[in-house]
Amino acid sequence: MNTPSSIEPSHYPNVMADLRATFESGLTRDLAWRDRQLAALNDLLEDHEDRIVEALGQDLAKPKQEVFLGELALLYSEIKYARKHLKKWAKPRGVRTPLAGQPGKSFIVPEPVGVVLIIGAWNYPIQLILGPLIPAMAAGNCALLKPSEVAPKTAHLVATLLPAYLDQRAYRVVEGGVEETTALLAERFDHIFYTGGSAVGRVVMAAAAKHLTPVTLELGGKSPCVVDDSADLKSAARRIIWGKCLNAGQTCIAPDYVLVTPKQKAPLIQMLGSELDRMYGKDRLSSSDYCKIINERHFDRLAAYLDEGEIAIGGETDRTTLKIAPTVLTDLKPDAECMREEIFGPILPVIEVANVEAAIDWIKAREKPLAAYLFTGNSSHEKKFLGAISTGNVCINDVLMFMLVPDLPFGGVGTSGMGQYHGRAGFDQLSHLKAVMRRGRFPEIWIRFAPYSALKTRLLKIFG
Ligand code: NAD
Repeated sequence: MNTPSSIEPSHYPNVMADLRATFESGLTRDLAWRDRQLAALNDLLEDHEDRIVEALGQDLAKPKQEVFLGELALLYSEIKYARKHLKKWAKPRGVRTPLAGQPGKSFIVPEPVGVVLIIGAWNYPIQLILGPLIPAMAAGNCALLKPSEVAPKTAHLVATLLPAYLDQRAYRVVEGGVEETTALLAERFDHIFYTGGSAVGRVVMAAAAKHLTPVTLELGGKSPCVVDDSADLKSAARRIIWGKCLNAGQTCIAPDYVLVTPKQKAPLIQMLGSELDRMYGKDRLSSSDYCKIINERHFDRLAAYLDEGEIAIGGETDRTTLKIAPTVLTDLKPDAECMREEIFGPILPVIEVANVEAAIDWIKAREKPLAAYLFTGNSSHEKKFLGAISTGNVCINDVLMFMLVPDLPFGGVGTSGMGQYHGRAGFDQLSHLKAVMRRGRFPEIWIRFAPYSALKTRLLKIFG
């Protein structure tokens, strides 16, 4: 790559050596310094909102409001929250010392882990590369960022802007694709934070295993959405359409498909249609509020799904603009690939299930999702759902909105990922929680020392 901000793979060892030297110098341990860097990141975003909107417009035709909603708002709020709580999070956390450890004090000391590699995905290419950077900075680490080459304008903008705002000794950006990422993964990092599909997640984890480097994997999967007999259909339809059409469905936590009870199926589909009309008009391919598909490969993959069921709503496509209209599919073919793979586009299969119990069985028979949604007015259904479904995140009577709550950790479980971030969860994820005990000298409790005796053993059982 011959861009001014690019770094050739042959220079990665030097970049790593520089970052490691910075980390060892102690620069990033200073809390005031960390706070200034976080403030500078905030300035970068505020000063260049227009350029960010422009780059995301070129990569994804992302409307300005979606740039704010899906990318910037979360970053501003995470930076603010981290700056507000940094001192508290970084303080030693006292824990109880049992009698056998007296006199003594015990505490957990969060310490930075070192140099963190952050690999971002293309669908929210600003949020997913800078979002993990915030806890990495707050926790006092150095970081090397590798934005997704699949959203090239945004990746290049990140690589151009970051050095102008953040301390280059501690934070660097590398542009590139598979070749560059493979070369990076050969280096020894202290943590790797990867966002993307699970196939590459396995590659990242295998590379990390060579150095026993811990990983956070923010992956995807099929996030189900259940609508039961007691759900308020109008609100369910509106919210499902919003969550599915945001970024043209290219959202890791978008409702992937709907499981609906027989009584609700036809009215739900009708209301999904009305909400689409209200939000995007009749000519949805021309709506400036609606994103395009990222590239031809994904467009062709999604277009092929349109033949896998009956089209109840939508189905229009335009390969020249890479747009696919929001589409509701029913009567899916038994071998439909869109019911085996994550859809990651604006296609919504609607499948009939007898009741909430049947929906739970359906979900439990599949891989653990990143998010699960239930629309219901019945608290016992909610309780059953929460008790039975293992998933990264849940929203009852809405979709996606848990992202707004800084105290809720975000991350998957099973094949949808490992590790969590946002708020303090991110700070802890990218810190080592060092366990420390400080002993007093007097009085010495003698029961642990030889010579051993039956009495000492008995006392150990009581006080140990
Ligand atoms: P992608 O193609 O942008 O790939 C992700 C990153 O992996 C990129 O930086 C890319 O350069 C790198 N990469 C690709 N192939 C590689 C290889 N062979 N070796 C090393 N690195 C490689 O993104 P994607 O995988 O298409 O992303 C879509 C997936 O990501 C979906 O499954 C989605 O659900 C998931 N996702 C998850 C989250 C989350 O927060 N959990 C967020 C967004 C996307």
